[in-house]
Amino acid sequence: MFRSSSFVQRLKEVTKLSGFVATSFSALVGAGLSISWQQPAIANEPSFSAGFARESITPDVNDAKHPIWIAGFGQKRQARSVHDNLFASAIAISDGTRRGVMLALDVIGFMYNDIADIREVVQKELNLDFVIVSSTHTHEGPDLIGIWGPSFFKTGVDAQYLQLVKQQSLKAIRTAVARLEPVRIQRMELTNVGADVVVDTRMPQVFDNNVRVLHFRGSNDNQTKGMLVTWANHPEVLWNANTAITSDFVHYVRDGIENGIRYDATTLHPGLGGQVVYINGAVGGLMTTLDSTPVVDSFLHQTLVTPSFEKARTVGYRVADAVLTGISNGQETDLSGSTLSWTSKSLLLPVDNIKFRAAALLKIIRRKFEAGFKTRSEVGLLRLGDTWIGTIPGELYPEIANGGIETPAEGDFKLSTPVEVPPLRQSMKGQMNMLLCLTNDQIGYIVPRSQWDEKAPFAYGEKSAPYGEENSLGPNTAPMIHKALTEIFTAAETNE
Ligand SMILES: [Zn+2]
Repeated sequence: MFRSSSFVQRLKEVTKLSGFVATSFSALVGAGLSISWQQPAIANEPSFSAGFARESITPDVNDAKHPIWIAGFGQKRQARSVHDNLFASAIAISDGTRRGVMLALDVIGFMYNDIADIREVVQKELNLDFVIVSSTHTHEGPDLIGIWGPSFFKTGVDAQYLQLVKQQSLKAIRTAVARLEPVRIQRMELTNVGADVVVDTRMPQVFDNNVRVLHFRGSNDNQTKGMLVTWANHPEVLWNANTAITSDFVHYVRDGIENGIRYDATTLHPGLGGQVVYINGAVGGLMTTLDSTPVVDSFLHQTLVTPSFEKARTVGYRVADAVLTGISNGQETDLSGSTLSWTSKSLLLPVDNIKFRAAALLKIIRRKFEAGFKTRSEVGLLRLGDTWIGTIPGELYPEIANGGIETPAEGDFKLSTPVEVPPLRQSMKGQMNMLLCLTNDQIGYIVPRSQWDEKAPFAYGEKSAPYGEENSLGPNTAPMIHKALTEIFTAAETNE
């Protein structure tokens, strides 16, 4: 079972144990017996180290020979300027024996084969037990998948830029590992953050908008060294007409927590410093701030509707403010347990999507097939103390994570019961259960099988097919990912 006792409770238990051993020892010595014993180690005391580093992966938008195509909202959107730098942000974690790295990239997605290239270099060199690579999924940054290029027949990926991302990722990973230092880790879960700024564009209405935080403070100075923040929303507040490279609202989440919630000369909430790493949760289904979604900025006393950096700031600050307020209100809990373990499962997923097959064959998407039209991907579980962190290789529909899958009669497979049950978080037994999506791959949408709806008539009275299926590998993806993760979670619980 899970250990939820606090550090203080554990310390008491250990003190009691030491007292017991000491008493028994004197009794034995008194009886003329000679034994040797060691002072028991403080059982299960978390003794983690962490290191943070980030490197710029901002593309050069002025190199005429290497145009940068922005990913999202159709093809042929060329980047013309840079609003804020894109980063490869790394967190190295060690328990003294095992160590690994989590890396978040400000890009639309990073594919399994590219992640394998990074792992191949650093895993041995730095003796890493795991390398977990996520994408923030900004739709206002360079295409690294391929489908947003200058035309349907030309990839949007610039090979030179892809190389830069890999080089800078390696640099961030190496620096983060070199900076490993003892930390105290705290966790915090804030419910239903920014519900008024995120829209679910497809039935059923299920969100993944709890903010989950891991806060790493220096053991010696208690200062913030860094933070992992998860929430779920498409970073596309700037929408389809923007040509300035930006990490969208993610920039303001990080900047707000690190440097404070600021409007020109006014600071509403001072920042905590350190390095904030943002990773998205279940953004499928689809979690977004539409170009028509009104967003209320309570400091400006304005309702922002038209896409703008001010609007992206309001969305990002909503999360940053929740985190800073939660910390000042003492809502954090010290991580208990000393586990640091990574389990992953390799999957061979069928590519049923004809468009994806064609795009891969035309080398628009640089993706290899195995055994016919199948592609390799991965799910995993990182356990860090009492926190479970599941990794998902694409854009999960939140109902698979949190429950609420429906079985509309118009669904293509006419299923009367949902397939992907119980919801993933129900099988996770951490005191806090994070799900990192777009992690260790980007395979597109992961749609519940019973909600798969390409053929008329359409569910919920829709006149045309809902959006999602066209950017999914196919209807077998969700059941396979759900099954593999559920197996990992169940095995982890059994091994407690
Ligand atoms: Zn998306």
